Amino acid sequence: MKTLRLKPGKEKSLLRRHPWVFESAIARGGADSGETVRVESHDGEFLAWAAFSPTSQIRARAWSFVEPQRIDAAFLAALCTRAVDARRYFDLQSDGIRLVHGEADGLPGLIVDRYGDTLVAQFGAAGVERWKDVLADALLAATGLTQLYERSDASGREREGLKPVTGWLRGDGPTEIAIREHDWQLTLDIATGHKTGFYLDQRDSRKRFAEIAQHRRFRRLLNCFCYTGGFTVAALAGLKAAGALEGATLTSIDSSLLALERAKAHVALNGFESVACDFLDADVNASLRRFIEEGRTFDAIVLDPPKFAPTAAHAERAARAYKDINRLALKLLEPGGVLFTFSCSGGIGADLFHKIVAGAGLDAGVDGYISERLGAAPDHPMTIEFPEGEYLKGLVVVRK
Ligand code: SAH
Repeated sequence: MKTLRLKPGKEKSLLRRHPWVFESAIARGGADSGETVRVESHDGEFLAWAAFSPTSQIRARAWSFVEPQRIDAAFLAALCTRAVDARRYFDLQSDGIRLVHGEADGLPGLIVDRYGDTLVAQFGAAGVERWKDVLADALLAATGLTQLYERSDASGREREGLKPVTGWLRGDGPTEIAIREHDWQLTLDIATGHKTGFYLDQRDSRKRFAEIAQHRRFRRLLNCFCYTGGFTVAALAGLKAAGALEGATLTSIDSSLLALERAKAHVALNGFESVACDFLDADVNASLRRFIEEGRTFDAIVLDPPKFAPTAAHAERAARAYKDINRLALKLLEPGGVLFTFSCSGGIGADLFHKIVAGAGLDAGVDGYISERLGAAPDHPMTIEFPEGEYLKGLVVVRK
């Protein structure tokens, strides 16, 4: 068994069961890509079994903190089963479900989403890459399904020294899939969509947006970074439930034409083609500035940008970008209007995000109540040991 010996004092985070070993913490030792290593403190005390990543700054990711534990097919299959079973307790109101959420499920780097009868997996670290076949079989056994598509093309793989891989890993079938979310029909393409095809993590926030749209009967809505229009459909459903569709206008902006076309199709698929919906293939920042010049205002705005800060190192620049769009959005909001604002950057914590939005309000000369805090849906769990897991945070701001 190969070992990694840590420098003195560097055992602390593993003792707290945080699963990452940084390159800078290692005194000596190494292994092949994804191979299991025994991680020891500087005086030889057992700390964890971990998967070695030869090129990543996160040089090893822990599988287990228990010494008499073999890291083998049975161990990994048990983790897959546990992850799948845990989701049975959530009432997700959808047949799009995240079944494995990486570190939170003890499977560092592995993301598995279920869309109907198809699994889509992202193998994002050397450890899960090495055990790919075992994990694929275990996931199908745990779910009773036969189709698994691989979407290992996220940028993190490069840091792990792994090439992008996409395609059917088990079975095959159409990559175009229809799912239900709450009472809405949505579609996605697992081969060409973002991530594994869809942003499942925003499911509960879309529901909340529908509820607030119903309650407040919004008239002029703006959905920024709309992707395939999830928040747009949600708002329409809420307005319909309130009998308030007539006269409402909805503007949805994204820089991906493919996503916008699907957003448009989703509006029709859910029976809302008669509502005044605009779809702008444009940059959000520039569009917000133009709306301000044109004197337009909105009573509901969604800001759900892509990850501006993939790691803490990008936090400062990202903070400025978040502040800028929030400032512009707050300016466009009518008194009493509602802003749903999000950050999915792991490098921006909840406190910092709150400060950024507060700074944006100050600069805009706009005061607001924070009426709710939002986060990823429960099938994207956090664990107490792994604060980086809290990547998605949202605030509902009501302009005073
Ligand atoms: N709210 C969406 C998910 C948003 S993901 C949902 O519920 O499904 C972020 C989106 O921002 C992506 O669709 C991406 O194409 C888009 N995007 C990235 N940069 C952009 C920019 N500068 N202007 C407009 N859209 C952008």
